[in-house]
Amino acid sequence: MGERTLSIIKPDGVSKDLIGAVISRLEEEGLKILAMKMIRMTKDEAKGFYKVHEGKPFYESVTDFMSSGPCVIMILEAEDGIRRYRKLMGATNYKEAEKGTIRRDFATDIEKNVVHGSDSRENAEYEINYFFNALEVAGR
Ligand code: GDP
Repeated sequence: MGERTLSIIKPDGVSKDLIGAVISRLEEEGLKILAMKMIRMTKDEAKGFYKVHEGKPFYESVTDFMSSGPCVIMILEAEDGIRRYRKLMGATNYKEAEKGTIRRDFATDIEKNVVHGSDSRENAEYEINYFFNALEVAGR
Protein backbone atom coordinates (compact mmCIF):
# COMPACT_ATOMS: atom_id res chain seq x y z
CA MET A 1 0.00 0.00 0.00
CA GLY A 2 1.20 3.49 -0.84
CA GLU A 3 1.51 6.45 1.43
CA ARG A 4 -1.59 8.58 2.11
CA THR A 5 -1.70 12.36 2.19
CA LEU A 6 -4.35 15.02 2.56
CA SER A 7 -4.90 17.49 -0.28
CA ILE A 8 -7.01 20.63 -0.15
CA ILE A 9 -7.96 22.86 -3.04
CA LYS A 10 -8.23 26.10 -1.04
CA PRO A 11 -10.99 28.72 -1.40
CA ASP A 12 -8.97 30.76 -3.93
CA GLY A 13 -8.51 27.65 -6.12
CA VAL A 14 -12.22 26.85 -6.01
CA SER A 15 -13.28 30.45 -6.75
CA LYS A 16 -10.86 30.66 -9.68
CA ASP A 17 -12.34 27.45 -11.19
CA LEU A 18 -9.10 25.50 -10.78
CA ILE A 19 -10.61 22.27 -9.39
CA GLY A 20 -10.30 20.45 -12.70
CA ALA A 21 -6.81 21.75 -13.45
CA VAL A 22 -5.51 20.66 -10.04
CA ILE A 23 -7.13 17.22 -10.21
CA SER A 24 -5.71 16.67 -13.72
CA ARG A 25 -2.21 17.29 -12.41
CA LEU A 26 -2.73 14.89 -9.49
CA GLU A 27 -3.95 12.15 -11.80
CA GLU A 28 -1.18 12.71 -14.34
CA GLU A 29 1.36 12.33 -11.52
CA GLY A 30 -0.19 9.00 -10.49
CA LEU A 31 -1.60 10.21 -7.17
CA LYS A 32 -4.78 8.16 -6.68
CA ILE A 33 -7.84 9.87 -5.18
CA LEU A 34 -9.24 7.63 -2.40
CA ALA A 35 -11.84 10.09 -1.08
CA MET A 36 -13.10 13.54 -2.03
CA LYS A 37 -15.66 16.11 -0.88
CA MET A 38 -16.40 19.82 -0.95
CA ILE A 39 -16.82 21.50 2.42
CA ARG A 40 -16.91 24.97 3.89
CA MET A 41 -15.01 25.22 7.17
CA THR A 42 -16.10 27.42 10.02
CA LYS A 43 -13.43 29.66 11.53
CA ASP A 44 -13.11 27.23 14.46
CA GLU A 45 -12.73 24.24 12.11
CA ALA A 46 -10.00 26.10 10.20
CA LYS A 47 -8.26 26.88 13.50
CA GLY A 48 -8.35 23.20 14.45
CA PHE A 49 -6.96 22.20 11.10
CA TYR A 50 -4.08 24.69 11.31
CA LYS A 51 -3.48 24.29 15.05
CA VAL A 52 0.25 23.61 14.42
CA HIS A 53 0.45 27.29 13.40
CA GLU A 54 -1.29 28.66 16.48
CA GLY A 55 0.60 31.73 17.72
CA LYS A 56 2.24 32.51 14.38
CA PRO A 57 1.65 35.98 12.90
CA PHE A 58 -0.37 34.62 9.98
CA TYR A 59 -2.62 32.26 12.04
CA GLU A 60 -5.65 34.58 12.22
CA SER A 61 -5.36 35.58 8.60
CA VAL A 62 -4.90 32.07 7.17
CA THR A 63 -7.81 30.69 9.22
CA ASP A 64 -10.03 33.59 8.02
CA PHE A 65 -8.99 32.73 4.48
CA MET A 66 -9.57 28.97 4.85
CA SER A 67 -13.09 29.62 6.19
CA SER A 68 -13.93 32.25 3.55
CA GLY A 69 -15.40 29.83 1.01
CA PRO A 70 -15.66 26.19 -0.02
CA CYS A 71 -12.65 23.89 -0.31
CA VAL A 72 -12.25 20.52 -2.05
CA ILE A 73 -10.69 17.99 0.31
CA MET A 74 -9.11 14.76 -0.94
CA ILE A 75 -7.19 11.79 0.37
CA LEU A 76 -4.45 10.86 -2.09
CA GLU A 77 -2.44 7.65 -2.13
CA ALA A 78 0.79 6.76 -3.92
CA GLU A 79 4.25 5.39 -3.27
CA ASP A 80 6.15 8.27 -1.64
CA GLY A 81 2.90 10.25 -1.98
CA ILE A 82 3.64 12.96 0.61
CA ARG A 83 6.88 14.05 -1.03
CA ARG A 84 5.58 13.67 -4.60
CA TYR A 85 2.47 15.73 -3.95
CA ARG A 86 4.49 18.47 -2.16
CA LYS A 87 6.80 18.59 -5.19
CA LEU A 88 3.81 19.01 -7.49
CA MET A 89 2.45 21.83 -5.29
CA GLY A 90 5.70 23.82 -5.13
CA ALA A 91 7.05 26.04 -2.35
CA THR A 92 4.69 27.82 0.08
CA ASN A 93 5.68 31.16 -1.46
CA TYR A 94 4.69 30.88 -5.12
CA LYS A 95 7.49 33.27 -6.07
CA GLU A 96 10.00 30.66 -4.89
CA ALA A 97 8.12 27.68 -6.38
CA GLU A 98 9.65 25.81 -9.31
CA LYS A 99 8.25 26.33 -12.79
CA GLY A 100 5.47 23.91 -13.66
CA THR A 101 4.26 23.53 -10.07
CA ILE A 102 0.64 24.25 -9.11
CA ARG A 103 1.55 27.20 -6.90
CA ARG A 104 3.93 28.78 -9.38
CA ASP A 105 1.34 28.54 -12.13
CA PHE A 106 -1.79 29.57 -10.21
CA ALA A 107 -1.03 31.22 -6.82
CA THR A 108 -1.28 34.98 -6.41
CA ASP A 109 -0.15 35.45 -2.83
CA ILE A 110 1.89 33.64 -0.12
CA GLU A 111 -1.40 32.89 1.66
CA LYS A 112 -3.73 32.36 -1.30
CA ASN A 113 -1.61 29.57 -2.71
CA VAL A 114 -4.36 27.31 -4.15
CA VAL A 115 -3.46 24.00 -2.50
CA HIS A 116 -2.54 22.34 0.77
CA GLY A 117 -0.62 19.08 1.21
CA SER A 118 0.42 17.26 4.38
CA ASP A 119 4.11 17.60 5.20
CA SER A 120 4.70 14.39 7.19
CA ARG A 121 3.09 11.00 7.87
CA GLU A 122 2.09 12.14 11.33
CA ASN A 123 0.39 15.29 10.04
CA ALA A 124 -1.23 13.38 7.17
CA GLU A 125 -2.85 11.01 9.65
CA TYR A 126 -4.13 13.89 11.80
CA GLU A 127 -5.46 15.80 8.80
CA ILE A 128 -7.15 12.76 7.17
CA ASN A 129 -8.88 11.87 10.44
CA TYR A 130 -9.85 15.53 10.92
CA PHE A 131 -11.95 15.54 7.75
CA PHE A 132 -12.92 11.94 6.90
CA ASN A 133 -14.45 8.98 8.68
CA ALA A 134 -13.87 5.37 7.58
CA LEU A 135 -17.14 5.15 5.62
CA GLU A 136 -16.07 8.03 3.39
CA VAL A 137 -12.86 6.36 2.22
CA ALA A 138 -13.79 4.30 -0.80
CA GLY A 139 -10.43 2.67 -1.43
CA ARG A 140 -9.54 1.49 -4.96
P1 GDP B 1 2.60 24.77 3.39
O1 GDP B 1 2.84 23.48 4.12
O2 GDP B 1 3.48 24.94 2.18
O3 GDP B 1 1.14 25.02 3.05
O4 GDP B 1 3.06 25.98 4.36
P2 GDP B 1 2.93 26.22 5.94
O5 GDP B 1 2.48 24.98 6.64
O6 GDP B 1 4.20 26.87 6.39
O7 GDP B 1 1.78 27.35 6.06
C1 GDP B 1 0.43 27.00 5.98
C2 GDP B 1 -0.29 28.03 5.12
O8 GDP B 1 -0.30 29.29 5.81
C3 GDP B 1 0.37 28.33 3.77
O9 GDP B 1 0.04 27.41 2.76
C4 GDP B 1 -0.19 29.71 3.47
O10 GDP B 1 -1.56 29.64 3.01
C5 GDP B 1 -0.18 30.35 4.86
N1 GDP B 1 1.09 31.05 5.13
C6 GDP B 1 2.32 30.52 5.32
N2 GDP B 1 3.25 31.49 5.55
C7 GDP B 1 2.57 32.66 5.50
C8 GDP B 1 2.96 34.02 5.68
O11 GDP B 1 4.12 34.35 5.92
N3 GDP B 1 1.96 34.97 5.56
C9 GDP B 1 0.66 34.62 5.31
N4 GDP B 1 -0.25 35.61 5.21
N5 GDP B 1 0.26 33.35 5.14
C10 GDP B 1 1.19 32.38 5.23
